[in-house]
Parts: sequence; structure tokens; C-alpha cells
Amino acid sequence: MYKNVYLKRGKEESLKRFHPWVFSGAIQQIEGEPEEGEVVRVLTAEGDFIAVGHWQIGSIAVRVLDFEDRDIDEDYWKRRLQVAYDMRRAIGVASGKGNDTYRLVHGEGDGLPGLVVDVYGKTAVMQAHSVGMHCARHEVAGAVVGVTCGAVENVYYKSETTLPFKADLGQENGFIIGGSRDDVAVENGLKFHIDWLKGQKTGFFVDQRDNRSLLERYAKGRTVLNMFCYTGGFSVYAMRGGAASVHSVDSSSKAVDLTRANVELNFPGDARHEAYAEDAFKFLDAMDSRYDLIVLDPPAFAKHKDALRQALKGYTRLNAKAFSKIRPGGILFTFSCSQVVSKDNFRTAVFTAAAQSGRKVRILHQLHQPADHPVNIYHPEGEYLKGLVLYVE
Ligand code: SAH
Repeated sequence: MYKNVYLKRGKEESLKRFHPWVFSGAIQQIEGEPEEGEVVRVLTAEGDFIAVGHWQIGSIAVRVLDFEDRDIDEDYWKRRLQVAYDMRRAIGVASGKGNDTYRLVHGEGDGLPGLVVDVYGKTAVMQAHSVGMHCARHEVAGAVVGVTCGAVENVYYKSETTLPFKADLGQENGFIIGGSRDDVAVENGLKFHIDWLKGQKTGFFVDQRDNRSLLERYAKGRTVLNMFCYTGGFSVYAMRGGAASVHSVDSSSKAVDLTRANVELNFPGDARHEAYAEDAFKFLDAMDSRYDLIVLDPPAFAKHKDALRQALKGYTRLNAKAFSKIRPGGILFTFSCSQVVSKDNFRTAVFTAAAQSGRKVRILHQLHQPADHPVNIYHPEGEYLKGLVLYVE
């Protein structure tokens, strides 16, 4: 039987609206001493059941798994993973036709706070952000393989850097089901090496798939700069789209090597591509005005609310450099993946940059994360990726 956690009077309001977090300050009393990662039941001060979820020490004390009073057992994981997989099939990313790269579980967006699962061909990379999901990893991994009916054979568990440090779990990355050296996955017909061993996040930024496709449509005959290229996702799409030339830049030489390898994988010996390991700001300062399609997809400038002001300044500074150098008639794809930077914040930062440059700028598209990174309507904080496509006169 799960231990009960009682809320302070009136603190159940957000849970009644299905928000999936219980903050530690809302708790009145805890029955017994639950271990971190244990499943607990959440009740109102009056003793009415509200939710069941994972217990953890910290400001978010419970991450809700269900608003019905049920056991969190093997059957629960199977059903939840089945729902997630069916949705990916319904939106066409998990059909296997020309695309085997997609996000199968997107945390709160799939009602599974603390869990991320990305699929790369026959291998799923699973990341736990909570102790509870860590404790459930074997059941989750089994369910991933089960629901995909053999499409996924291997599960790599990659939570060394995402689990709370203080929980001291000593977790090491590695396969928990199967094992494979085949690191090539297919996104919209393009091939990518996925470095799940050492790469950032789960090894690839699956969330830019649709935005890369859009860029492909604008690439024909253009001179493209892909700034913050990482694995070269945007570069490879630009090349397929018929770009005249593509320059990829990242401050990490490993990222530049990955980009080169991915371009080579799809367009062997193609002289249109060049890659540079350089700092973005330095590169933008030194470059001439040759580019007429620029992508700016930087890492999150703000990881916390306190850093918001500085981050907005950073986005303005970065975009101002691109506005000042982009060729007349150029197109700028500019992004922010900081969760704490709202769509309006970001737009204001880019607007300020445009005004500083004095260029005439029109918004062509407003971009966001793709459908396999859904936003739980009761957890709007889950909306993190935003982008603008701009026409610069
Ligand atoms: N556009 C990529 C994802 C970018 S992730 C994609 O589609 O997959 C952000 C990248 O920015 C990382 O690879 C990181 O190495 C790089 N980066 C961070 N700071 C940088 C800087 N100052 N200059 C250039 N690159 C930087």
C-alpha cells in the first residue's frame, strides 16, 4: 500500500486542474517516511484522494503519474507507453516510412513527468529526470520494447547527468535492454549518426525536425550559414534543398566533426559544405555579407528565471549581428529553446535586434516544437521551443 501525503487546506486547486506537480510547501503531513522515488498517494486536508505520483526531495515533492487511485505496476507502464506510441503512429512519425527518429515520451507532455524517450531506429534512448523514473527504468524499458512490437530492440539508459545529483544514485549510462553499434537513424529520408554515448541530451535534437523541413523549402540557390550546427541537422536539409553553399559553425570541434560526418553520409564528396569550429559571436563579427539564409539555434541562454534578463540581452545581441550582415532579401531562422523565455519575450528580443539594425523585417513563420513533443494543456510550462522565420529586406 502506498504512503499518503496530505496537502494543506485549499492546496489542491492546481491538482484539480490536472497540473502534475505537488510543491513541497503545499504539504501538511506525510505518513511514514517515503524513500525518494517511491510511489505515494496525495490527499486533500479532508482526506479525499487527488493523485498518485513519485515522491522526491526538493521543491517539486510529487510528480503526478495518475489522477485515478491505481497501482503503478507493469500493466500501468504498458498502457501509458501504448498511448504514447499510438499517438506517434497517428501523427505519422513512427510509421517506419522514411523516418525512424522521433520522441516517444515527452515528460509532462505525455503525462509522464521526469521521463524522456527518443527513438533512433532500433534503439531507444531513455532519460530519467526524477528518482521515481529511475526506479521504474526496467519496467519502462520493457514496455518500450513491448509496445513497439519489435521496431525497437535496444534501450540505452542515459541519465548520468539528468538525475538529481543529491540523490547520489551513482547511475552509469549503458544499455539496459539489448545493445547495438548501429548508430545511424533516418529523419525524413536523411541519415544521421546519433552519438547517444557522448552526445548532448539523448544524442540528437529531434525537436527541430519540422523546422529543418521548412528550411529545406527555402534553401534553393541560397548561401546558407548554420550557426550552432551541433550534428548538422539544418545543414543536411539545406543541401538536399539545393543550397548553393552551406557553412556550419559550432564552438565544439566534436560537433563540427559530427556535422562533417553527417554531410558525408548523405552527400559524399560534396564541395558545397564547409564547417568551422568557432565561437558564434566571433564568427558573426568577422564574416562578410555573403549569406542569404542564416540559422541561429543556440543552446538555452537561460536555464533559470533569474537569468532571464541576461538571456534576453544575449538573444538581442546575437540576432542584431545576423540582421546587420544578412544579404538583402535574406531569410533568418532564429530560435530559443529556453523554457523560461516566453514566446513574447523572445519576439521582443528579436524585435529589439531588428530595430537596432534598422532593417525592414517581416515575420514569415512562427515556429514551435513538433507534435511528438506535445504540450500538456494543463502544464503550459512544457512549451519551450520557439522560433521565427524572418524576411530581411
Ligand atoms: N541546431 C542544432 C542544435 C544546436 S545545440 C540541431 O539542429 O541539432 C547548440 C549548439 O551550440 C551546441 O552544439 C554547442 O556546442 C553550440 N554552442 C554553444 N555555445 C556556442 C558558441 N558560443 N558559439 C558557437 N557554438 C556554440
